[in-house]
This record gives sequence, C-alpha cells and structure tokens, in this order.
Amino acid sequence: MRGQVDRFIRERVMPCEEVLDAGGPASAATMRDLHDQARKEGIWALPLPAELGGRGLSLTEYAQVAEVEGASDHGPAALGSALLLDVLMLHRHGSARVGEEYPKRLTAGELRACYAMTEQDVLGTDPSMTRTRAVQEADGSWRVSGRKWFISGAAGADLVTVLARTDGAPADRGGLSLLLIPADSPGFRVVRELPVLGTGGQWEIELNGVRVPGDHLIGERGSALTIAGERLQLGRTLRCLRWIGQAQRAFDLMCERVNARAGSRGPLGGHQLVQQHVFESLLALRTTRPLVHEAVTQIDAGLDAHVEVGLAKVAAARMLQRVTDAAIQVHGAAGLGPDTPLPALFRTGRAARILDGPDELHITSVARRVLRGYDT
Ligand SMILES: Cc1cc2nc3c(=O)[nH]c(=O)nc-3n(C[C@H](O)[C@H](O)[C@H](O)COP(=O)(O)OP(=O)(O)OC[C@H]3O[C@@H](n4cnc5c(N)ncnc54)[C@H](O)[C@@H]3O)c2cc1C
Repeated sequence: MRGQVDRFIRERVMPCEEVLDAGGPASAATMRDLHDQARKEGIWALPLPAELGGRGLSLTEYAQVAEVEGASDHGPAALGSALLLDVLMLHRHGSARVGEEYPKRLTAGELRACYAMTEQDVLGTDPSMTRTRAVQEADGSWRVSGRKWFISGAAGADLVTVLARTDGAPADRGGLSLLLIPADSPGFRVVRELPVLGTGGQWEIELNGVRVPGDHLIGERGSALTIAGERLQLGRTLRCLRWIGQAQRAFDLMCERVNARAGSRGPLGGHQLVQQHVFESLLALRTTRPLVHEAVTQIDAGLDAHVEVGLAKVAAARMLQRVTDAAIQVHGAAGLGPDTPLPALFRTGRAARILDGPDELHITSVARRVLRGYDT
C-alpha cells in the first residue's frame, strides 16, 4: 500500500500542486477529482474508522504510509486522511445527534471541517485567556461571539469547531468548551484570508452572536482543553510523519541536483562543503524518524505521549526547515524560483516551528515533565 500511495502522490497529486496552491474554484474541482481517483484506487480515508466508511488502519499501520502521503502538502486532503482529527473528535465526543449526522458524511468527503482555537489578542500558547464567549439560552442553545484567526481551511468549511469560554473568567483553565458550528449559521463570517509567507489557506473568522443548538456542544461543558489536548497530540504526530515525507522529497532533489550539476572542477557533489549539506540533512532525517515513530507507538498504545510528541514535534519541524534550507542552498537561485517545490517545502518548514504550538512551548513542557521525574 505504501508503494501504491507513493505512486499516487507522485503521479497524480504533485503535478496538480500549482493549481491546488492557487485556491479558488479550479483548486476545489481538482481536489474533488483527486478524491474520486483515490476512491477508485481503494486508498481513500486509510486511517479513518471502518464503521464510518474509512479503511480502518491503526495509527501504527497508517504511519507506514503517512510519510509518502504527506510528501505533498496536499496529499492528506487528496486521500481523505486529513479528516481524521475532526472525525475522531466528533465520533468520540459528539452528542448522539452530532455523532449520527456528521462523522459518516465527513468520512465520505461530503463535508469539510476546520478547527478554530487561535485568537489575535491572546497568546496561542495560553488558551486559558480565550476571549470568544458562548452563553447558554433558556432553550439550551448557545450564542457564540468572538474572532479567530489563522484557521486552516475555514473558507471552504461546512463545520467549524470553536473553542469558547462558557464559564469562569480569563486565566481559568476550566470553563472552556468546544462547540460545533455549521458554517451557514447566521452571524458566522469569513473576514479575510491570511497568506502565510505568500501562500493562502488560512483565514480569519468572526462569530457574531451565532446560535448553536445545545447538542452541538462537543464533550462535557468545560472539557475543551482535555479534548483539544487529545486532538493536538495525534495531530502533531501526523504532521511530523508528513514533514518527514516532505524533507525526504527535498533531500532527494538536493542529491539529484548535486550529482547532475558540474563545473570545471567536476560535479557539485565532489565539493566537501556540499557533501556536508548532504550529510547533515541525512543525519537530521535519520535521527528524527525514530523519534516520530516512538510517539506513534506511545499514542497507539494509549500511553502518556507528552514527552515523545514534544520531542518529535520540535525535532521534525527543525529538521524540515534545515533540510529544505540545505536543498535550496545547493540549488542556488533555482531553489528560490518557481521551478521546484523547494520554496513551498521551506515555507512549511518555517511555519512548522510555530503552528500546533511553537518550539518554545514544547521545549519547556518536555523539560518540566522530565525534571519532575528527578524531584526527590
Ligand atoms: C500555517 C498555520 C496554520 C494554522 N492553523 C490553525 C488552525 O487551523 N486553527 C487554529 O486554531 N490555529 C491555527 N494556527 C495558529 C497556531 O496554532 C498558532 O500560531 C500557534 O499556536 C502559536 O500561537 P500564536 O501565534 O498566538 O503565538 P504566541 O502564543 O503569541 O507566541 C509567539 C511567540 O512567543 C514565544 N512564546 C509563546 N509562548 C511561549 C512560552 N510558553 N515559552 C516561551 N516562549 C513562548 C514563542 O517564540 C512564540 O513563537 C495556524 C498557524 C499557522 C502559521
């Protein structure tokens, strides 16, 4: 299956990257076409639960294909795996109605979802200060007001999971809840796109007194940070697997380039300083991969994976940035131009050190946990 997914990504998805990156109707139509092709090939929704219409691979099994699937940033969306986090969250924590209505349709690719935690005026690393509020009405429904930004895929989403304060005051870690909001609800508005290093896909949204049915609360009232933590642990690990695939792609391009390009003193690969780029990149790739698979094993076994995921996230983000930077360097100007995927891969590597929690958050959180083990 890994070989089949690898071929699909290289032969069908990568040639469409330019159209997919540009967004808009042509991008959406291309994505739908890729979904159909993936379904025909039997590689749609590989890690999603079989009872909902996915292939039901365990995380450990899926990890074997996630690297090659993620070699293109569009791979997980093209093959339906990007739906995993929303589907699992709604399936495990949604009310009977939410569980009945949405996870199967998401798995089938009929609906799209996004997840909105981050706010402009609040440290993303400290959600206890969240300003978005949800107030319960006499009939049990909720009125949600606030703004969120850098929300991936918000413009095309049918469903938005929003983190909001339902009780308590800023700085309380309790009192935060998750609510599922259909994007066609009155008062929901996509405000603007926020290009990241020049590329779209992230959006600012506004919730202006949006009414949400009472049974669209996800999990218990006040349980948002527990559910978000579960989602983020898995989400970060999946991203790490995909970043390894992207770094491997940059590494392959680098090696092909240094062997193919030659001057009067022979091929670029004959220069020791170029060999150092190759060595350091390979070392970064090979030392990161086992860390990520350790996190996969820990999560799949249902064990506490905070340390493993924190180590993997920081290592994989740094590694992707380092390998793509080296690949750009040996390509010279061509590495910054439009003819290779290196600028896009480098952009992902840079953003990787901030999204899903910046490096500093993981470094301090891992160190604190480790030091607690030495407390006498
Ligand atoms: C491409 C992309 C996609 C994203 N997608 C989503 C999405 O779909 N949904 C969503 O809700 N959010 C999303 N985000 C937002 C992302 O999760 C936040 O940017 C991230 O959590 C950091 O929060 P912040 O931007 O508020 O940075 P801040 O919390 O303001 O941190 C800024 C900097 O301050 C320092 N810092 C912060 N906290 C600490 C600390 N505890 N210790 C030491 N230093 C610290 C770090 O240098 C950090 O980079 C996305 C962001 C990007 C770039």
